[in-house]
Amino acid sequence: MLARVLVPVVIAACMFVVPLPAADLIVDSAAISDESTGENWLAHGRTYSEQRFSPLDEINDANVQTLGLSWFLDLPEERALNATPLVVEGVIYFSGHNSVVTAVDAKAGTVLWRFDPETIRHAGERGKLLWGTNRGVAYWKSKVFVGTGDGRIIAIDAQSGNQVWSTQTVDPSVPYYITGAPRVFNDKVIIGNAGTELGPVRGYVTAYDTETGEQAWRFYTVPGEPAKGFEDEAQAMAAKTWTGEWWEHGGGGTVWNAMTYDPDFNAIYLGTGNGAPWNHKIRSPDGGDNLFLCSIVALDADTGEYRWHYQTTPAESWDYNSAMDMVLADLQLGGRTIKALMHAPKNGFFYVLDRANGNLLSAKPFTKVTWATKVDLKTGRPLEVPGVRYENDDVFIYPGPYGGHSWDPMSYSPITGLVYLPYSEIPGYYSDKGIKRTLWRATKLEFSAGIAVETMFGNDFPTEGTSAGLGGWDPRKGQYVWRVPSAAMGNPGTMTTAGNLVFQGRADGALIAYRADDGALLWRFATGLGISSPPVTYAVDDRQYVALLVGWGGAQAMLGGSIAAQYGWSYGRHPRRLLSFALDGEAVLPPATPPAFAKPLEVADFVIDETLAEKGLSRYVRSCAWCHGPGATAGGGAPDLRASLIVTSRDAFKKVLADGQLVARGMPRFAEFSNEDREELMHFLRKKAHESIAK
Ligand code: CA
Repeated sequence: MLARVLVPVVIAACMFVVPLPAADLIVDSAAISDESTGENWLAHGRTYSEQRFSPLDEINDANVQTLGLSWFLDLPEERALNATPLVVEGVIYFSGHNSVVTAVDAKAGTVLWRFDPETIRHAGERGKLLWGTNRGVAYWKSKVFVGTGDGRIIAIDAQSGNQVWSTQTVDPSVPYYITGAPRVFNDKVIIGNAGTELGPVRGYVTAYDTETGEQAWRFYTVPGEPAKGFEDEAQAMAAKTWTGEWWEHGGGGTVWNAMTYDPDFNAIYLGTGNGAPWNHKIRSPDGGDNLFLCSIVALDADTGEYRWHYQTTPAESWDYNSAMDMVLADLQLGGRTIKALMHAPKNGFFYVLDRANGNLLSAKPFTKVTWATKVDLKTGRPLEVPGVRYENDDVFIYPGPYGGHSWDPMSYSPITGLVYLPYSEIPGYYSDKGIKRTLWRATKLEFSAGIAVETMFGNDFPTEGTSAGLGGWDPRKGQYVWRVPSAAMGNPGTMTTAGNLVFQGRADGALIAYRADDGALLWRFATGLGISSPPVTYAVDDRQYVALLVGWGGAQAMLGGSIAAQYGWSYGRHPRRLLSFALDGEAVLPPATPPAFAKPLEVADFVIDETLAEKGLSRYVRSCAWCHGPGATAGGGAPDLRASLIVTSRDAFKKVLADGQLVARGMPRFAEFSNEDREELMHFLRKKAHESIAK
C-alpha cells in the first residue's frame, strides 16, 4: 500500500516516469516511454526508442554460461515466425503464421488464447501474395492490435482474446498486404501496408482510434494523380519531384515495416519503401527524386501533418528501401547532446539524423557499397557511381535488393554506445534489357518491378561474393568496434541488455549471447531449427527470462535459394516453438529432427523441350519464385518444386494449380494459368530438377 500512495508524490517531485506496481500497469504513452524498468516488453522495439535495450541484468556476462531452457511451447500450427513477442505483466503476445495471435503465460509457458483472423478466407485472390509472415502486434491499455495479411487492422481484448473491432485498411482491388507491426500512441494505432512489387501500389499509413477503430488520419507517402487534387500540401510538394504519369504505376513507397513514435517531439517517423516499379526510367521518365520514396518522413502524431523528411536514396532504382528500423537515442556529437535518429537502410549507409529538424549528421557505409562512393553531408545526397542506373548496360552492384540490412531489427545499448547491427554483403544484378519502357505496365499479383526479373529469379542465388555478419557499430564514429561473421541468408534481429550482453538467433538454429562491448561469444543454444525472429527479455516474480520464437521462414527462407537451403530446414518438417530461458533453467528439448535436403526427381519418360522450358522460366519468376525460390531452389519457406511429386504428374499439377487442391495448406489457386502455361512451367521445373541431378 505504501508504494501506491507514494507514487504520485514521487512523479511530482522528480518529473521522471516511475514504474507503477505491476498490477496497476496501464499500457499507455508513459508506460511505453519508460526505459527504467525491464519487466515488460511493451512495444515492438520494447519502448518508444526502439532501442531493444533492456535494463535487466540478472543474466549477465559473468553468469550467462548457466543460462538454460526454462520452458518451451510447441506451436504445431505455425510455419514462418518473424515476430518480436510482446510481454505485458506476465503474458507473452505474438503474431504467427497468417497473422494468428497467441497469448502465452510467460512463466508457465502455457497457451491462454489464440485469435485467428482467417486471412486466407478474407484475402480471396490476393491470397496469392501472402507470405504468411507477420512481424508483431501492438498493445495499448487492454487491447492487442494486429495488422492482418489481407489488410485489416484488428483490436483484440487482451484478457479474453475476443475481437473488439476490425477495420479494412486497404483497397481489396489493389494487391496490398500487411506483414508489419502496428504502433500505438495517444489512443491511436497506426498501420502501413506492402505490395509494391505486385502491382500499381501507392503507399500510405493510417492512424485509427484505439477504442473505436475510426480513422483519425491518413498520410500518403507518394502523390496521386494531380488532376484528382492532392490530399495535403506535402503531396503537392512531393509531386514536383515526379515526372510522366507515375500514378499509373502506383508509385510505391509503402511503409511495410518501420515506424517509430517519438514522445519528445510528439512525432511519428515513417520508413518508406522502394518505388513501384523499381525502374526509375519507367516510373518517372524525365527524372526527379520521387518523394517520399526511400525516406524517413516525420509527421505530427496527432494530425498526420508533414513536418520534415530525409531521403536516403533519391530516384531509387534498386529496391533500396528505407523501411528498416529507426532507433532513437541521445548521442554526444560535436560536443553537444543530439536527440538522434539512427537508421541503416538497404542502401548500405548508416545514417544519424537530428530529430529536431531532420538534418543529416553522419552517413557512413556499414557494408560493402559499390553503387555510391559517399554521401555528401552538405547536400545530404549520395554520390552515385556512373552507370549504376543500368542506363547503358546491366550492372552488378553492392548491395542488391536484399539490402545491406533489411527488416531484422538492430539494437542499441546506451551503456556501450554501440548499435548491434545484422548486416549483409549480398550483390544484385540489375538489367532492363528487353523491356519496352514506354509500354511497360505493372501486372497485378505477379512480381512486377520494371526490370528483367529473369536475371534475378531465374537462377539460384549467387553464393560467390556473398557474406554477412553481426557488428557492434559505433554511431558516433561511423565504424565497427567488433564484427563476427554470420550466415548470409538468415541474420535475424538483435536484443541487448544491461548485463553487457547481445542476443541473436541464427539461420543455423543457434541462439547466441555475445559480450556487448567486445563481441566475445559467451553462450550458445541449439534450438533445432533456423531462427528468423529477434529475441526479447522480461521478468516475472523477479526472475529474468530471454524468449525467442523459432520458426524458419520469411523473405530470406523464401528467396535465399541454396544459401538458405544449406541448413536442411526443408518446408514444414521441423517443430516451431516458443522458447524461454532463465539462469539454471533445466528444461530439455526433445531430440532434434535431423536436417533434410530436397532430392530433385527425374521423370524417366519426360522429354524436356527447351523452348517450353524457357517460356516456363518467365512464368516461374513472375508467379512462383516469390515463395518457391530463385531457380526453383527453395530455401525452406515453401516446398522445393524440383523434388515435388506433384510436378511429376500433369494431372496432379492441374489439380493444385487449376482446382486449388492445396489452398487450405497455403498453396494458392492459379486458375488463370492455361493448359499451355502449366505445361511450360512443368518443362521449366523438370529442367531445373534435371540440372540439379546432373551436377
Ligand atoms: Ca521491395
